[in-house]
Amino acid sequence: MASELGVPELEGWVRAFAAAVAEHRDELTALDSAIGDADHGANMDRGMSAVVAALDGGPPADAAALFKLVGATLVSKVGGASGPLYGTFFLRVAGAGGAGPWDAGTVAKALRAGVEGVVARGKAEPGDKTMLDALLPACDALEAALAAGQPLADAVGAAATAAVEGRDATKQLQARKGRASYLGERSIGHVDPGATSAALLVEAAATALVPAQG
Ligand code: ADP
Ligand code: MG
Repeated sequence: MASELGVPELEGWVRAFAAAVAEHRDELTALDSAIGDADHGANMDRGMSAVVAALDGGPPADAAALFKLVGATLVSKVGGASGPLYGTFFLRVAGAGGAGPWDAGTVAKALRAGVEGVVARGKAEPGDKTMLDALLPACDALEAALAAGQPLADAVGAAATAAVEGRDATKQLQARKGRASYLGERSIGHVDPGATSAALLVEAAATALVPAQG
């Protein structure tokens, strides 16, 4: 099966993420009010709304331009920890994925590079109760499913399941990075807001990254 992801499919992923962030804005903010400063929903929605406004002006030239636009917009519009971290994620996705069209292997390579960018920028480790606790299991699941010969749609579905499980598992963790770490043991018992937005990103991929068949 020839399966390719061009700008329409990849832009669909970005737009699906923006819609999910808008839909879950209050939930993200409520999570951040428990262990942070109650701005994660507003931060992400401001950034992704600006991305959508830019995309409404016309499609980017290629996949790399699309993800560069997303990354640069998030860096400039979103303050706090999550702006530079998500910005770095998308800029690395742009660099590693390239102009496209993408295939399943490109998706895995780009996501891994994005997540490594978050690690490099934020210096968090697995289990620190951050967005990485959703993103890392998602990357691992995606790569494992593709290595086992699964088609992209199934592999991204497995990645979404892993991201959601990773998100939920942050509840028992004590935060060791970001504002939530100031709470020490009192951060335990709350799901991490950044892991929640990261799960929305991977779930959006599972709904949007259905390759054109030909
Ligand atoms: P701020 O904490 O500056 O208010 P946000 O509320 O928008 O920024 O984002 C908070 C989220 O950022 C956290 O829930 C966590 O997932 C993520 N985060 C914070 N610090 C780091 C880090 N060093 N590495 C990875 N993710 C981080
Ligand atoms: Mg915050």
